[in-house]
Amino acid sequence: MIYIFLCVDFDRDAAFPTLGHKHAVSKPKQTETQDILTDPEKSAEIQGSIEGFDKILSFLIQKKLPTVFYFEARTIDLISKKYPEFLKRLNQPYFEMGVHGYDHEDLVGKETGMPLESQEEFNLIKKAKDKIEELFSTKIIGFRAPYMRVSENTQKILMDLGFVYDSSIYQESDKSIVPYSDEYGLIEFPVIKTPKESLMKGMYTYLWPLFEGKRGIKEVVNNYIQLIYNSTENNSYISINLHSWHFAYNVEQNCYLSQKEIRKNAEFLIKLIVKLEEIEGVHFSTPKLWLEENELL
Ligand SMILES: [Zn+2]
Repeated sequence: MIYIFLCVDFDRDAAFPTLGHKHAVSKPKQTETQDILTDPEKSAEIQGSIEGFDKILSFLIQKKLPTVFYFEARTIDLISKKYPEFLKRLNQPYFEMGVHGYDHEDLVGKETGMPLESQEEFNLIKKAKDKIEELFSTKIIGFRAPYMRVSENTQKILMDLGFVYDSSIYQESDKSIVPYSDEYGLIEFPVIKTPKESLMKGMYTYLWPLFEGKRGIKEVVNNYIQLIYNSTENNSYISINLHSWHFAYNVEQNCYLSQKEIRKNAEFLIKLIVKLEEIEGVHFSTPKLWLEENELL
C-alpha cells in the first residue's frame, strides 16, 4: 500500500520574509507603511486563504479526506476571531493539525537577518502549539518549519515540547519514501523532490508551479502517477504539498485571482486527488495515521 499525504501549509497570504522583521509579511502588504510592516498581525492578510480554500475545504469535508494542516498560529487565530464558522469547518476528525510557526518565523534568519535564540524559538513554537491545540481542542504531534528551514536547535526543541515528528526536509527520490528517526528520536517525514534526470524532471512535490501557471495539470498528474508507479516499498508515502492561499493569489503577478480562476485552481487539485484515488493500492492518509497504523504511536 502506498500512502498519500495531502499537506496544507496554512499561512497568511503568501508569507514572505522581510529584512529586519522576525515575523513574515503577506506579499500583498509589502508596500505598506512601517507601522503595518512592523506589526505581526497588521502585516498578515488572510483573505486569500479564506476565499481560496473555501471550495477545496467543502470537497475535503464531503469526501472526509484525511488531510494534514500545518498552521501558522497567527493566521488561524485571526480566522477564529473573524471567521468562526470557517474554523468550525476546519475542525474535522479526519483532519490532522500541525504547527507552522507563530508568525511564520524564518528560524535561522537567513532572509530576515534576525535568527532566533534557542529559548526564543522554544517559546515561539510552544506558544504556537498551545494556541492551535486550544483552538481545535486537539493534541499536536507534527511540525513543519516556515520556509522549510529548521535551525540547529529545532529538533531538540520539538522533542522537548512533545512533538513526535517533523516534516521540513527535502529528500531526493523518484519514488515513495519512508520516514526515519533522527538523533533525538524525532521522526522525520521528508518532502520528496524528484531528481533532475528522472522522468519527473526535478519536481518538488509542492504544487507551487501548478498554481503559478508554470506546470500544467496533466504534467503534474502524470508526475504523481509516475512516482506511484516507481514505488516498491510497502507502507511508504508520497506527499502532495500546497499553500492555503495559492488558489486565490498569484505570487509572480502579485495579484488576487478572480472567482473563476479560484474555481479553476480548486478543480486542478480535485482532479489530482480523484486521479490518484483511482489507482489500486493508493490510500490517502496523514503522518499521524501512518504512525498509528505502523504502531509507532
Ligand atoms: Zn508557509
